Parts: sequence; C-alpha cells; structure tokens
Amino acid sequence: MEMNGFDDNQLERLRSCRECPRACGANRFESGGYCKSPPVPKLASANLHHGEEPPISGLRGSGTIFFAGCNLSCIFCQNYPISQLRHGREITLEQLVEAMLKLQDRGAHNINFVTPSHATIALEAAIPLARDGGLRIPIVYNSSGYDSVGQLRRMKGLVDIYMPDIRYRRDDIAEKLSNAPDYPEINRAALIEMHDQVGELRFDSEGIAKKGLLVRHLVLPENRADTELALDFLKNEISPDTWVSLMAQYFPAYEAHDIPGMDRKLTADEWRRAVGFFERSGLNGWHQNL
Ligand code: SF4
Repeated sequence: MEMNGFDDNQLERLRSCRECPRACGANRFESGGYCKSPPVPKLASANLHHGEEPPISGLRGSGTIFFAGCNLSCIFCQNYPISQLRHGREITLEQLVEAMLKLQDRGAHNINFVTPSHATIALEAAIPLARDGGLRIPIVYNSSGYDSVGQLRRMKGLVDIYMPDIRYRRDDIAEKLSNAPDYPEINRAALIEMHDQVGELRFDSEGIAKKGLLVRHLVLPENRADTELALDFLKNEISPDTWVSLMAQYFPAYEAHDIPGMDRKLTADEWRRAVGFFERSGLNGWHQNL
C-alpha cells in the first residue's frame, strides 16, 4: 500500500525516523525530531546555480534543490535562515519530482540536492519517479558529511556524485561549533562509504562531472577545521586521487560573532598555510582565492 508516494517500508521509517546519525526516532508526520522536518523537507529554492565548482556548474548551471532544515546546528551557518529557521515552502513528493524535471528542461547539468541528509527517505521515493518521468542528468548529493552509512547505502545507485564536506577532525570542536561531537567519526565512515559507491570524480568530454566523489573543505580561523589532518585523511584513507575543493569563504554569520576567534574572516597567513597543505598533498581539485 502506498501513501503520498511512499511505500510501506519508507512510511515505517518516517514514523520512527533513525535515518541520519542523530537517530532521534521521531515521527516525521508530527514533530520531525532534531531536524524538525516533515517527510518531504520544505523546499527553500530550486534554481540554476552558477557558483558551484566548475565541473558541477558548467556553462548552463547546476540544478540546485535547497532543502530547509538540517541535522547539524552550525553556529556559523551562512544559510541559517534556511537551515535553522527553516524558511521554505511545504511540498509533496510529486512537486519535488516536478522541480527536478523542470530544472532539467532549463538546461541544468545535474540535480544538486543541497542539505539532503534529512531528506533521504523522500529522495529514495522521488528519484526513481523522476527517472521514470525522463530525468537523465546526474544526481548530486551535496551534504555536510554528517550522514549515516545506513542511509548512504540506501542511496546507492540513486546518487551519481557525492559532494560532502569534511569539516572537523576534533570532537570538541565539532561539539562546540555544530553540536555534533561524533562528527569526525561519522564523517570518516561516510566518506569511505561514498567513495566505495562512486569512486573518484569522472568527467565527460566537456569537463562536466558525471560520477564520483568531490569533497569540500572550508578552512576555519585558528585552524579549527584541522586542514592538514583532513587532507591527510583524504589522501591516505580515501584515495590520493580524490578531488577536493578548498574553500576560503568563511565569514562570521549567525552566532559566530559571539565566539572569540570565529568572529572574523581568515587572515592571509591562515589561508596561505591551508593552500600550502593542499598543494603539498598532491590531491586533485581547486582552491578559492581569499
Ligand atoms: S532525519 Fe531528522 S528526524 Fe530523522 S534521525 Fe535525523 S534528525 Fe532525527
């Protein structure tokens, strides 16, 4: 029996949700747990985005579908009106499928789900429907990297490109900045699972990403993101051919103004050191300019 496009198994998991690493057991038809999200998370936006990495945005743009809500509570979130205040509109699975097909019609190179970790049950149901409806472009799973191995395994074969963050290597920092002391351990297992599923990033003849893993790392003030350790992990435990996007765009947003050391942008010296680690690592990828 189906209800609103979900099958029985998906409905059962929605009624006692333990999908993401929070495993709160909440009824998504009622309170929605830590992420406070309904079965299909609210839609904050669905648009062509030209500011992602070159093989993701290409010339025509990435078809980003931005979900409201999040399973992390980062004190510096640059999208906090969407992630923490959950600004967005309620949608059905059918409308989610329509949004995907519409972005393909507008020329999107891919469908890029932003903050999907609390949306995986909806994606399990929606992606096959969209494929049946004619969706041909790759699916990008653009997450904070706080994903359980179980939920990623259920995404196997549905996701073409994983684009997770690698944020922290230290539990105390992950607790203080994102209320997730187990982030380093969860993230490590998630990245290994993602790489096992899709391998290194691969491109078509025009340089557009088709399949694989692309890891983002946001450098934080006072080396709170442990950039060198993060890059060492990618090189030694994922693959020396991993593609990485090193990001300089940190600025104090949301509650970060109140945390000493997080209340400023990176210094030129901090950024130079991070780029030095990246260049010495030999990993593939790009870095922003400060
Ligand atoms: S997806 Fe939401 S409700 Fe489900 S376990 Fe994670 S935080 Fe809890």
